[in-house]
Amino acid sequence: MTKDFDAVAASRRGVEMRRLRAEFKKQLRAGEHRLITVFDDAEDPRTDPVVRGLRVEWFLRSIPGFGATKTRAVLDRVGVSPTATLGGLRVRQRAALRGEVLALYRRYFPHQRGRLIVLAGPSGVGKGTVVSWITSRFPHFVVSVSATTRPRRPGEREGEHYYFVSPAEFQALIARGDLLEWAVVHGEHRYGTPRGPVEALLDEGRNVILEIDVQGAKQVKRAVKGALTIFIAPPSFEALEDRLSARGTESEPERKRRLVTAERELRRQKEFDYVVVNDSVERAGQSIVDLALASRDPQATKE
Ligand code: 5GP
Repeated sequence: MTKDFDAVAASRRGVEMRRLRAEFKKQLRAGEHRLITVFDDAEDPRTDPVVRGLRVEWFLRSIPGFGATKTRAVLDRVGVSPTATLGGLRVRQRAALRGEVLALYRRYFPHQRGRLIVLAGPSGVGKGTVVSWITSRFPHFVVSVSATTRPRRPGEREGEHYYFVSPAEFQALIARGDLLEWAVVHGEHRYGTPRGPVEALLDEGRNVILEIDVQGAKQVKRAVKGALTIFIAPPSFEALEDRLSARGTESEPERKRRLVTAERELRRQKEFDYVVVNDSVERAGQSIVDLALASRDPQATKE
C-alpha cells in the first residue's frame, strides 16, 4: 500500500518537474532570464533542480537563431555531451562552456552587454575618488585595471591599482593585440587597457569604467561602438593646481609636467560626449551613473 502510494507520489513529482522544466524553457526562450546568470546559478547545489536539471543542449537552443548545428559545434568544442545537465558539468567543462556562452552574448544579446564608460580628465581632478564613489555604491559598475610601465608607488598593489609591467612586457601586449588602447602619458610612461578582462566584464552585463587619458579616450571612441566618453573637469584651473599640491604624491617637476598635460587636456574636452564638472564627488558620480544608464547609444541596442 505504502509502496503504491510512493510510486504515485513519485510519478506526480515527475510530471510536475517536467511541467516546471517546460515552463522554464519557455521563459528562457522569451529572454526572461539572463543566460549567464542561469548558467552560474546552476553550479550552486541550492539552486532549483529545474534549473540544474536542464540539458545543456536545451539551454543553448533557447537562444533565438541558435539551432541544432551551432549547438552541436559548441558542445563538440568544449567536450560536453548534449544530454549533460547544467548542474552536472565538470569544472573544466563549466569553465570552457562559460567562455562560449559569454562569447555568444556579443552576437545574440548585444543589448544585454554592459556599457563601456571612458572617464578622462586632468591629473588631480579627482577621477579616482569619483570612480570609487560609483563602484562602491553600484555593483554593476566596475573599473578596469590598466597595465603600466610606471614604477609602483608606495601603497599601490599589483592587479588592484595597475598591472606593473616592464617596457618589454608592454611591447609584447601591444604586439599580441591584447590592449584595447594605449598611450604615453605625461610624456613618460606607457599605460594601456587590457582588452580581454574588459570584454569579459561587458559580456557579463557590467558597466566598465576606464579611467584613462585623453589620447586613450579617443582611441576607445573609435574602436568600440557605443562607448560613452565623459570628460571630468575641475571647477577651475586654480582648483586643480591646489589639489595637485595638496595631494603631495608627485615631485615638483612631475607636478609641473602634469599641469602642462592638464592645460592641454582641458582644451580637448569638447571632443567628449559629455563634460561633468567635479564640484562635489556625489554630484559628479551620480551624473556619470545617470548618463551611463540613460544615454544608451541606440546603435548599441540595434544589431
Ligand atoms: P598615474 O600615473 O597618476 O597613476 O596616472 C597617470 C594618468 O594615466 C592618469 O591621468 C590616467 O588617466 C592615465 N591612465 C591610466 N591608465 C591608463 C590607460 O590604461 N590608458 C591610458 N591611455 N591612460 C591611462
